[in-house]
Amino acid sequence: MNVTIIGGGVIGLNCAYFLQKEGHKVTVIERGDITDGCSFGNMGYVSPSHFVPLATPGIVSKGLKWMMSSSSPFYVKPRLNLDLIRWGMTFWKSASAKKVEENAPHMNNLLQLTRHLMNDVKNELPEPFDMTEKGCWMLWKNEKTADHEKHLADQANAYGLKTIMCTPQQVQEYEPQVETNVAGGVLYLDDCHVNPGKFMRSLYSYLKSKGVKFWLNSEVKSFETANGKITGVITDKAKLDCEELILANGSWLQNISKLLDIYTPMQPGKGYSMIYDGLEKNLQYPSILVDDRTATTPIGKWLRIGGTMELSGHSDNILPKRVTAIYTAFKKYYPTMNLPQPDISKAWFGYRPVSPDGMPYIGRHTKFSNLSYAGGHAMLGVTAAAGTGQLIEEIISGKKSSFDLAAFNPARFG
Ligand SMILES: Cc1cc2nc3c(=O)[nH]c(=O)nc-3n(C[C@H](O)[C@H](O)[C@H](O)COP(=O)(O)OP(=O)(O)OC[C@H]3O[C@@H](n4cnc5c(N)ncnc54)[C@H](O)[C@@H]3O)c2cc1C
Repeated sequence: MNVTIIGGGVIGLNCAYFLQKEGHKVTVIERGDITDGCSFGNMGYVSPSHFVPLATPGIVSKGLKWMMSSSSPFYVKPRLNLDLIRWGMTFWKSASAKKVEENAPHMNNLLQLTRHLMNDVKNELPEPFDMTEKGCWMLWKNEKTADHEKHLADQANAYGLKTIMCTPQQVQEYEPQVETNVAGGVLYLDDCHVNPGKFMRSLYSYLKSKGVKFWLNSEVKSFETANGKITGVITDKAKLDCEELILANGSWLQNISKLLDIYTPMQPGKGYSMIYDGLEKNLQYPSILVDDRTATTPIGKWLRIGGTMELSGHSDNILPKRVTAIYTAFKKYYPTMNLPQPDISKAWFGYRPVSPDGMPYIGRHTKFSNLSYAGGHAMLGVTAAAGTGQLIEEIISGKKSSFDLAAFNPARFG
């Protein structure tokens, strides 16, 4: 098939990777030049441990509390925006124990599929991308968090994931170079991490070498349709005839869906990260600092710290207090690591594509027979990229799906 993919982020490139492997002719249309964006500066986790979707019971009340503080990890820019209000109502309805119980096994399928496929991807791509397979910490400072984290670890074990529950002393033993100050931690051994920028560059150059075509600096503006099919993709530069179309344009998925008269709720969830390099003493393991929703990724002498979830639309405005809060949180858990204060002007940010139930959109859409969705992975785009790519390839090739995709149905909101 001739397959057109809109969006050259980690999801679009992974779809291209699996499709070209099966002999499909792939063209990726990307508004930018595949050098930056949400898929480049993220924390690079590939974490099967994250099987619980974002919309969970308690998150709404916690979010409302966080909104009162200018340095909290969550922020919604107050504004009268119908899409945001509708998204918020759906999120609120989805954040129930029943929904989470329904969705978690499907998320687990997707994440475990990706984790398994990442070993093949690593072996296939000629340029290494620092994939490190040693696990990831969930660390907490608040004693009350321990029960919740223990419960999650039990659930993870039931899904076949390996965890080690640790006392503060044991956490310290795993981190011989740096002082830790925590109340406890769980090490998820199946999680791994990559350098996301290197992963993207490696995929991009591999795909070019395999004949995948890239239309860069080309923005999709409209579509031609006929007889229940999308027949043409029109960019600001040219028109491309279309046999199969994959929408993989991240947090802009709702905008592009509107061009096809399809409702696909999505909010950009802005997050920040900063890099420190040349560290003589560094963390040995990546960590999620649970109570502060902050994350760390060490690779050799290099360390990235990041976090926050800002629902403020696609606004390039950096909120200095929230960037500083990431640094302050880091210092609480690793008090003697003397990282300099972040240079706000150099903080990286990206827009996570956040669906209102925390589940991605993967699969054919009912409105057009040649239209598929691959997006809305929120904080799990890297974690779920390879799995999403394979599932999309199965759909386009007409194969039986690796597992039931109903929970990811792109038409589930109408
Ligand atoms: C601080 C932070 C930390 C994170 N950490 C992790 C992590 O550790 N692990 C993990 O799994 N995930 C993480 N994420 C989330 C992850 O980065 C995203 O889920 C992922 O990058 C989304 O990939 P994507 O391909 O769907 O979207 P994107 O990377 O945004 O790519 C979409 C592309 O579509 C293009 N596009 C949009 N509209 C058009 C158009 N009309 N025409 C042509 N092109 C268009 C855009 O230019 C863009 O390049 C993190 C995110 C943030 C912000």
